[in-house]
Amino acid sequence: MISETDVVVIGSGALGSSVAFHLAKARRLAVALVDMHDLASQTSPRAAGLTSQVRRSELVTRLARLAVKKIESFAKDTGEPFTYHQPGALKIARLPEHETQLEEEVARGRRLGVELEFISPDEAKRKMPFLETRGIRAVTFAPTDLYLEPAQIPVGYSRAAGKLGAAMLPHTRVTGITIEDGAVKGVSTDKGEISCRFVVDAAGAWTRLVASFASSRVPMIPTRHQLLITEPIPGVEPNQPITRIIDANVYVRPDNGGLMLGGYEKTPIQYDMAQLAPGFDIKDLNLDLHVLRRLADSVRDQLPIFARLGKDIALREHRGGLPTMTADGEHTVGPVPEVRGLFIAGGCCVGGLSIAPAVGEVLAEWILSGRAPMDLSALAPGRASADLRSEERLREACRDQYSHHYWERHESAASAASG
Ligand SMILES: Cc1cc2nc3c(=O)[nH]c(=O)nc-3n(C[C@H](O)[C@H](O)[C@H](O)COP(=O)(O)OP(=O)(O)OC[C@H]3O[C@@H](n4cnc5c(N)ncnc54)[C@H](O)[C@@H]3O)c2cc1C
Repeated sequence: MISETDVVVIGSGALGSSVAFHLAKARRLAVALVDMHDLASQTSPRAAGLTSQVRRSELVTRLARLAVKKIESFAKDTGEPFTYHQPGALKIARLPEHETQLEEEVARGRRLGVELEFISPDEAKRKMPFLETRGIRAVTFAPTDLYLEPAQIPVGYSRAAGKLGAAMLPHTRVTGITIEDGAVKGVSTDKGEISCRFVVDAAGAWTRLVASFASSRVPMIPTRHQLLITEPIPGVEPNQPITRIIDANVYVRPDNGGLMLGGYEKTPIQYDMAQLAPGFDIKDLNLDLHVLRRLADSVRDQLPIFARLGKDIALREHRGGLPTMTADGEHTVGPVPEVRGLFIAGGCCVGGLSIAPAVGEVLAEWILSGRAPMDLSALAPGRASADLRSEERLREACRDQYSHHYWERHESAASAASG
């Protein structure tokens, strides 16, 4: 146990480990990476491991693109073993409004230098043979999107940060943040006090709870998200693209010879981590396969293969975790306005694994230089509007974002984002 450092990063998931690595790499500040559980053991290793580069805002599109570049050079940058598949991604519109959405995404991609083009449904089927084309109005293909085994990111960054001299403190729970004259002075843990000038709250589902130790309200709601993976199916190849169906909010990708399916149901289960036991572990989260069966059913015209699940196709894995949703569907990254030295890396909105390489880099630069390396105000922890002070409204807005994950425009989300 250490008693003093410059920066304490709370949470060794994808976001915290990336911040710790990028800080340690600069070799200008002493860093401690603290986790109440095993390193890299909570939501991050349970992700699907998909990237998606054309996002609804230009800022997040830029970050997502940077993140893919950093994933491509991960092994070189960290010295850790790393593999990924880059078959690209299909995005499918079955409703007229989603055809328009895809047109806008292609235009945005072109503007920001992300390859994205329309292809015909037949061309999509050639790339993804399990896809049926009846009812498809439009399909885009993003050739540089990729997928990977998710644990590699937090494990790789944590190990690399340790080799660069960061103190690794697993099984150490942060129980308080000490503040003097409005500035961070240290953290209390169940193993003792650590004095420090900066704290990065990257506590995943617990981000809000940890921020409350500094009397900060960071509005985000942990929301259960699940996926399933089948046993190997003849014809599944790793170079088949990620497939997303917008109206159903469902994604599919190859996984070790089988197919992975995940998605966003209309009424997700939301959590308040303060109500769970302090030692709660994501591995003990209640999962519900019926949710995934209903999602599979909603895409049966396009992916009838999933109707065979439980018949001649067996389930290999069913997993889930607690990503955190925000009211406007954007990440939460940056300093907390009311406490000097306290930064947040959270509000992952089910995209934190793939954006983590970029978020870690920009947040580390911010801490080191005292200035944001780009305009990140759209992700500021203090951006929520006053009406979201009501817990009920916040939950409703977060549920709405979750249940329309692939939809770029719909009335209630737009009003939540601007309200
Ligand atoms: C089924 C599923 C599929 C997903 N698919 C994708 C995908 O395809 N692409 C994508 O980008 N994202 C995806 N996600 C989302 C992604 O998993 C999350 O965005 C990401 O893992 C968030 O990382 P994190 O570092 O914030 O959280 P975590 O990995 O949960 O890490 C937070 C850490 O903080 C620690 N901690 C909490 N409180 C304390 C404390 N008081 N003291 C010390 N330590 C503490 C915890 O123990 C934990 O290890 C998916 C998620 C799920 C569940």
